[in-house]
Amino acid sequence: MNKLVEKLDQEHCLEAKELLWLLENNSVELRQDLSKKASEVAKKTFGNGIYTRGLIEFSNYCKNDCYYCGIRKSNDQVHRYRLTEDQIFNCCKTGYALGFRTFVLQGGEDPYFDDDRVVAIIQEIKKNFADCAITLSMGEKSKKSYECLYEAGADRYLLRHETANKSHYKRLHPSNLTIENRMTCLRDLKEIGFQVGTGFMVGSPIQTMENIIEDIAFIKELDPQMIGIGPFIPHHNTPFKNANPGSLEQTLQLISILRLMLPKALIPATTALGTIDPRGRELGILAGANVVMPNLSPVAVRKDYSLYDNKICTGDEAAECRSCLAKRMDSIGYEILTNRGDYPE
Ligand code: SAH
Repeated sequence: MNKLVEKLDQEHCLEAKELLWLLENNSVELRQDLSKKASEVAKKTFGNGIYTRGLIEFSNYCKNDCYYCGIRKSNDQVHRYRLTEDQIFNCCKTGYALGFRTFVLQGGEDPYFDDDRVVAIIQEIKKNFADCAITLSMGEKSKKSYECLYEAGADRYLLRHETANKSHYKRLHPSNLTIENRMTCLRDLKEIGFQVGTGFMVGSPIQTMENIIEDIAFIKELDPQMIGIGPFIPHHNTPFKNANPGSLEQTLQLISILRLMLPKALIPATTALGTIDPRGRELGILAGANVVMPNLSPVAVRKDYSLYDNKICTGDEAAECRSCLAKRMDSIGYEILTNRGDYPE
């Protein structure tokens, strides 16, 4: 067993130069050591159970213009949609019958969904499905707005920091979006009481190993309940259309490192990971992830929520997505759970 992997397992942290060594020497043998330890750690807390979240992509309108994202404002080739409250509610109904007890409402930053509208949706879901958790993933808002959504009953909030390095952040986003505000949002969410998720894209354009080390340090310091990482995948109608995608091997390595650093974190095997490799999500679980997020969005809008090219599962009904993932988890000795899947005490 590699000595640094043992140290990471015991101390839950490494010095920057040690991390750099791991990142630069990502061999098959090292990854085997990392995933062996990381999956053992995940099993200690979660057994062979995998948490599921039903993902509802409620709007692809976005006022932001992130250079990497397929639904950025400037992409005029996108067919824009927003789900009605009834449609969102029906997704939950379908999801509930399939055993989902967490719904993730994700979308672009769509001003139509102001606090009043989102509060009404949260209240309606909570009224009908009181035993379910609601996760929001709708970008940057004021502390006051976040408070209002929390008071309405939202439990969790996903907001990837995207990159912890200021100049890298500037290369990925237009100047009205700042790393400072992103981080303020994350700290606000935490203070309010949300279970918070953050994360970044692996292999995003111009990302360096040093950037990744800063990302890991930021995550360790924030100590979020959830960590979402997935490979960057270019979208053909963005400024980064010719950039290289992130690698499977590096994403798997980082899942293992993050699992060893934050043993109890909820870490999904993301759709992007399943997109760059047919067995990406299974490999993600074997590397230490413990969450999957099947899609509950109406099939009619699936292909319009395209953040990157070739996204998987855009033609499948919710039930198909769920049973496909259940089979995939079963094939590697894991089992999909039908509880809320909260952060372990
Ligand atoms: N508007 C919300 C939700 C964003 S979509 C927000 O700002 O948080 C969720 C995540 O998809 C983003 O945080 C980003 O990390 C990821 N994403 C966007 N474009 C991507 C791409 N081209 N490849 C891989 N992941 C991407």
